[in-house]
Parts: sequence; structure tokens; C-alpha cells
Amino acid sequence: MLVFCAIVPHPPLLIPSIGKENMAKLDKTINAFNILEEDLNQAAPDTIIVISPHGEISFDSFTINTHQNYIARFEKFGDFSTEMKFKADLQFINELKSKTETKLPVQLISDENLDHGASIPLYYLTRKNASRRIVPINYSYQSNQKHIEFGEAIKEAVFSLDKRCAIIASGDLSHRLSMNAPAGFSPKAKEFDKKIIQFLKKKNVDGIMNMESDLVDDAAECGLRSILILLGAIKKMNYEFEVLSYESPFGVGYLVAEAKFK
Ligand SMILES: [Zn+2]
Repeated sequence: MLVFCAIVPHPPLLIPSIGKENMAKLDKTINAFNILEEDLNQAAPDTIIVISPHGEISFDSFTINTHQNYIARFEKFGDFSTEMKFKADLQFINELKSKTETKLPVQLISDENLDHGASIPLYYLTRKNASRRIVPINYSYQSNQKHIEFGEAIKEAVFSLDKRCAIIASGDLSHRLSMNAPAGFSPKAKEFDKKIIQFLKKKNVDGIMNMESDLVDDAAECGLRSILILLGAIKKMNYEFEVLSYESPFGVGYLVAEAKFK
């Protein structure tokens, strides 16, 4: 069963040795992660499916990382000491493979290293229980509809196994919210973030699927497709999104939201 679902950002500055004094500016996000961590531990999943924009992305296919063991490190960001290890849930991966076969383009990859889109949320969410198995997935550049369908396949795999599963959709919203933003400022960027949050609260999946491509391109986001996969998994379930935090201290929109099941 699906016991926990959340949308989370992945700024490397959330890692204490990297963020240092900048962590104070991410206060709301850190508090929200603390709440999520508690909720996740209460939900006690056996397996965490983590959808990331920053692993090995294939333009045409969704990718599933089937390496047996994974390592999360942050050397790219100047942290040479933090290290986390995880084990794969190969049973889940096989099930997901069979649910997508002939329906959706899926490529299996094998990479010991987790990207920061997966590692940063896992850093916060597995501090008290690192033994949970994980399934690292990367989205594709297939259509929005295919992302919804891939989410539906994840749900089918979840419900055909006798397991408690969590889905973490990792992604940042617009990267153009202020003058010092990494992708430069765009006046429309705020509109993108506002719309995503409104649609999530209203459970308007079609609204998110059909957002104008100009607005999406302009936002320079990395979270939309992760969110679409998550929505595909839960859209027929009885849930409400609770926005735990939203802030953009560095010009990038960081949203933490949890789908609460009823
Ligand atoms: Zn990103």
C-alpha cells in the first residue's frame, strides 16, 4: 500500500556542511522536512520510491536504477565526509518493470551513486532509519500524459505487492524568481510557482498537465515531471495536499507538500 507521498526540493545548501550560515535562510524548508521525517517514520514504509530530475536522464525513456546498493555523497558540492548507503528494492523494481512493459518506455540503468535530487531528500528523511530500501527513478522528456501513466504504473506495482511504500517527488520550482536567481529573473516565474501550488491544493491534475508550455519553459523548473509522476500514482485516491512550506531565498522556489490520505 501507499503510505506516504510528498513533494520536496533539493538545494545542496540543506546539507549542514555545505549550507553553513546559509541554512538559516532555509528555515521554513528545514522545519517542513522535520515534519515530513516524523510523518514518514510514522507511516513506516518498507520502500521509498524517489523520483529525481538529476540522475541519468534519457530523453525518451523513464529510467530505473537497478544497482543493488547505492551511495549518496556530496563531493560535487565540497562536502567530502557525508556519506549514506542504501539498498535497492529489487522485488519492487521487477514488479514495476512488468507493469510498464509494452506500455511505457523504461530503461534500466545501474549506477552506485545517487544524484543530489535523490540524496538530499533522503538525507533528511532517513536520519532515523537508514535501513529502508529505495527505488531511484528518473523522469523523461516524454509527454505529461506519459508521466501520469508512469505514476499509474508505480501505483499498480505498489498495490500488487504486500508492502508499505512511500513516494518522494523531488524537484525545485522556478529558478528565475529574483534578480540573483541561477537562471536569471523572469517576471512570469512567480506565476508558475503560484499556479502549481494552487492546482495541487485544488487537486486539479488536468490544470498541472495542461499548463502553458511557454510558462513552464520560462520558469526553468526541474520539478514538474516529478510531480506529474506522483500525481499519476495518487490521482484516483482520496487525498489532500498539505503545503508545509514554500520559500525562495535564493531565487529558486522550494516547495514541501505532503499528500495526506483520508
Ligand atoms: Zn533540480
